[in-house]
Order: sequence, then structure tokens, then C-alpha cells
Amino acid sequence: MIADRVIEYLKGPGSKIPETALETALHRIGDSLITNMGERQDSTRRIKRPRPSASWACGREMVLSSLGLGTEGYGWRSRMTFAAGDYNEAVGILLFRQALATTGEDHLILTPNAAGDQLELDATLDPAAWGVEGTPFRLTGHVDMTIRGLSGDEEPVDWKGVATYTWEQMMQAATKPDHEWWKKEASGYVAQVRWYQILLRAQGRSDARRGYLVGVNKNTGLLAEVAIDQDPDAERLLIQRAVWVREKIHAAWKKRGEVMGDGLFAPGGNWHDYADQVDEDGAIVKPGGTRETDEELSEWVRQNVPRASFAASIAVPRQNVKLPDGEKGDCLELDMKADPQAFRCSYCDHTARCWPGFEVVPLTKPVWRKAVAATSTTP
Ligand code: SF4
Repeated sequence: MIADRVIEYLKGPGSKIPETALETALHRIGDSLITNMGERQDSTRRIKRPRPSASWACGREMVLSSLGLGTEGYGWRSRMTFAAGDYNEAVGILLFRQALATTGEDHLILTPNAAGDQLELDATLDPAAWGVEGTPFRLTGHVDMTIRGLSGDEEPVDWKGVATYTWEQMMQAATKPDHEWWKKEASGYVAQVRWYQILLRAQGRSDARRGYLVGVNKNTGLLAEVAIDQDPDAERLLIQRAVWVREKIHAAWKKRGEVMGDGLFAPGGNWHDYADQVDEDGAIVKPGGTRETDEELSEWVRQNVPRASFAASIAVPRQNVKLPDGEKGDCLELDMKADPQAFRCSYCDHTARCWPGFEVVPLTKPVWRKAVAATSTTP
């Protein structure tokens, strides 16, 4: 529905791009360049709330992000790849708008509007509505694009720049409901679209029984489109996940209150309570902290919040890695063969806190490892 229209447009003579559409796309790309290529923002302490696009596959990442610890360097590869992803999103929306305009159907794109404003979703979700026990929680997020779908409903669309491997998986998964990709992305790409569907419904905008992912192959330019239909069981699992994460964040902030003693702990327990605290002048309170308090909190998280299941594999002795003393020895590696998703860890903001001492080594196939003096299975 989306990819086909874009391909049809690109195969044809094309059409003049209106000034506003061009400005919108350039504005999106410009914002991304400023964020990813400009002044580094990782010197600040920032609390990141769970959002639809968060790493639902890894509760540890979400808890660490919620604490506003001194962040580690935003990896240079992340800066490159995230900017490329934003470019694909901006161009994808532009192309779909151009494609629809050739048949006078551009009104089917509901958001972003002509000025490029994305739809902001914001709702408090009560787990009881999904038969799940837990405290209501608030979720906010921006959606790349919403369209008037075939059913007449407003439906969310998320654009992704993807590698060939993921593109191939998306192509296969589009017609195979039992493809492994669905399981793998249940807490990733698919979760993000499901959250948008949930929030559109919670805001009373739409029944949102369908959403879409459009993957742009970063190497070949080929497009893959996956329709995601409402699935009550999958939604229930997501709500359960959110309740679990909320409890972990609550516990982490309780610990933070003890360690920091700065009165920032909000017993209400909603993640928005932690990030929205303002001082008497209305400025958002910056979470303070020192290297020592950061380390104490990180250790608490390491002890109390498990890593993502995809990151569980470890320990590949190689016996040829240069050790800190210059000798050759063993190393521990994240085992990408056991689960290729494990490489996701290398894009995480908290790699050093989660895997102290590990680094990415760009061999023919990059490995992620830490040299150790003797073979061990303990990271
Ligand atoms: S490094 Fe991996 S396991 Fe650790 S917090 Fe980040 S995503 Fe989770």
C-alpha cells in the first residue's frame, strides 16, 4: 500500500516537489544533523522516559535511561546510522506524499501536517483494560506518519532504514505470520507500532486496527512493507512488560533517593513523575550525581535488573587477544552466533555500564569483547 505507491511513483516521470514539502523534509533532516552530527549532547545528564520507540526488549536499558546518570559517549557509529535512518524517514514521507499527490489523494496522509508537525500521542493506560494487574502509566511519543487506511481508520506508519538482513526478514515476514522476525521484533519494531495503535485508540482518534512498518534497505534502496494487525494477546504482553518496567524504574528511583538524598524520588511511581519535576522557577530539575553515585546506582541496576534475553550469551575464549599487559590471552565475547540481535547492545547508551571493559573490535565481522587474563565465563 505504501511501498507500492512509492515504487510506482519513482518508476514514473515524478512530479515537482512543492516548496512546503521540500522544506518539511529538509527541516527533519536538518534537525537530525544537528542532533547527530553537531554538538554532542552526551555530556549532559538526561532522563529518558520509556516511549513507544524505547528498547522494550531490554528492561535494563530502560531503567538505566530513566535514571539520568552521566551518559557515556554516544557512539560514532550510532551518530552515522541514526542520521541515515532519519534521512530515510524524511525522504520516505516526502515520496509517499508525492506519490499520492499524482492521483489527488495526498489528503490520505493525516500527519505530519504540511508544516511537518508530527502527531504527538499522550495517554494514560490502565493495565486493567487488558486484564493485567498494575498501576496505570502514562506513555507519550511522536509517530512518523499516520494515514487514512483502507478501513477508513487513522493508522500509524513507521519508517525504518534497515540493513539487507533485516530487509530480507521483513519481506518474508510480510506474508508469513509464523516467521521468526515477528517473535524477534515483538519487543522492537513491532512493539513500537503496536504502542502507536494503542495510543491512537486511547486518545479516541481511531480504532487503529492496523499499522505499518516500511523498511528502506540502506544498501539497495529496496522497500519492504509489513502490515501489523491488532492482536489483543500481543498487546497484553506489551502492557505486562510496561508494568514490569514501571516497577523496576520505581525501585531504581527509590534507590536513587537513598543514594543521592536529593528528594527527587517521587513515590507516585509513574515515570513521568520522575522526569517532570520542576524547581520553583519552573525549570526541569537536572538530575545531579557524581562518578561514585553513578557507579553505585549502576551496580544496583546490574544486580537487580537483568540484561535483555538476546544479550545473555557470552564467553568465547580465543587465546590470541592482546591483554592490557601486552601478552596474548583469552577474551570474553558477546556471542552473536547464538543471537544476532546481541549486536544491538553496541548501539545502547549504557554499554559501558552494562558490559564494563568490553569494546567493539572491527574484525571482518565485528566482535564485541573484553580481554581477560584467564578463560572465564563471568563478564
Ligand atoms: S548493553 Fe545490551 S543488555 Fe545492556 S542495557 Fe544495553 S541493550 Fe540492555
